[in-house]
Amino acid sequence: MDVDNKLVELIYNQCFYHFCFDVTTGIVDMDIIDKSGLNHNKACGLSVPYKFDDLISNSLCGEYANVIQVADMDMSELSCENLLKVYESGSSTAEVLFYLPGRDSYTRLDYYMFEDEDTGHVMAYAFASDITEMERKRIARFGDLVKKMDETDDIIATAQMGIWHIYLFDGERPRMKASPKMCELLGIKPEGMTEEEIYEDWYSRIKPSSRPYVDMGVKQMIAEGFAERTYAWIHPVKKEIFVHCGGTATKVEGKGYILRGYHSDITEVVNNDTKQKQLLEDALEEVKIQKQLLQEALDNYKEADYDRRRDFLTGLRNRQDMFELLQDVLSGKREKIRYMFMMDIDNFKMLNDHYGHTYGDECLKRIGDALRDYGRKNNLYFYRYGGEEILGICMDAHKEASVIANELVELIYKLNIKRDDLPTKAVTVSLGYTTDNSRYEKMIDKADEAMYQAKDRGKNRAVCYEDL
Ligand code: GH3
Ligand code: MG
Ligand code: MG
Repeated sequence: MDVDNKLVELIYNQCFYHFCFDVTTGIVDMDIIDKSGLNHNKACGLSVPYKFDDLISNSLCGEYANVIQVADMDMSELSCENLLKVYESGSSTAEVLFYLPGRDSYTRLDYYMFEDEDTGHVMAYAFASDITEMERKRIARFGDLVKKMDETDDIIATAQMGIWHIYLFDGERPRMKASPKMCELLGIKPEGMTEEEIYEDWYSRIKPSSRPYVDMGVKQMIAEGFAERTYAWIHPVKKEIFVHCGGTATKVEGKGYILRGYHSDITEVVNNDTKQKQLLEDALEEVKIQKQLLQEALDNYKEADYDRRRDFLTGLRNRQDMFELLQDVLSGKREKIRYMFMMDIDNFKMLNDHYGHTYGDECLKRIGDALRDYGRKNNLYFYRYGGEEILGICMDAHKEASVIANELVELIYKLNIKRDDLPTKAVTVSLGYTTDNSRYEKMIDKADEAMYQAKDRGKNRAVCYEDL
């Protein structure tokens, strides 16, 4: 043999079987018989010549989980293609450690590759030997892990969940192994796809809005060993589906992390939630409609109440409203009344006679508008007390009563409501007022009396009761 160094000799003596094969063609043209006499290729139904890859998949490492470690190989699967890659990368050796579930034993395979001078093919010697105690311990840890992983996978698989393994090994593109259920769930067609492509397909179809959660989940898995998330995935046919996903991370020394987890479709649950939300929204909508109706009723009431308290012609408050105010003030519900003003249009009878009732009404309206405006600005309430008598009530003393009184008289005069039957040439009022609020029931009478004094003194003026 071409391989003649001491180490190889040692392995050759210690190994329980060895064989040589053509890596380039993948053909093994010899029987593999170990020291106990067992014909390995026959045992797994192969007769000479056969494909090396068939031997692997039929016997030893068909299940990826059984390959514990492929040293010097940037991959976990043993195949001629992968061995060639190792050789082309400049290394002539490859070491594979694997577990034989049937025999519950660990084995190492050492491959020594060389080029055949005649054919130019890459040939390989394979030496199978028992594993050293140190290796056994190292592997056992990982092997237990693999076993444990398989057990949980079994449980998860019976729960009809999709199982995945993601390999995040340093310097490698992430890879994903997805169980058939997982592929079915997510609509991934794994045939002809590499593990890198499966990972990329899976990742690219995570709904962009969900991606931060997934990334956070991966980080959490690595940091805390475990994470669970729900995210949306774009299924090629079903469109958006919601998946619940839980996983754990295991650190593999010198390699990186293996994440393992499960996926379950919770689209229905989410939809149920959405339905619940819809029902709730419907109920809220109903409440909103009820509230709206109530508001309308309230508005109607307010409008009716407003009407009840208003004088139609002038828009001023009416006597009903005035009595309610006085009641509120007497019962302490409202603050004190400070001043009261009683106004009476001068020679209104004459105006009516001269210009007609309609003009008289128009005059009342304009005075009403002007007083409401003044009332808003000066915090005064005005009431149509009688036909053309208007009562003003002031609740605060921000202005002196005399000032207000004179402003009101002037306000009406300045409205310049034309009347040629008087020397003033405009409609005027006489105003009487009182500032003594010790007894409210007396205030109207006092203001009224002062108003008559204003008439007596020539009209179009204001007179204070307390000055009489
Ligand atoms: P004085 O200056 O002394 O007040 O003289 P006056 O003519 O205004 O006398 P008085 O207050 O007695 O007359 C009130 C008149 O107001 C009687 C009535 O015709 C008129 N009047 C009362 N209410 C209305 C109304 O709603 N519209 C119209 N056009 N006139 C009204
Ligand atoms: Mg009058
Ligand atoms: Mg009058």
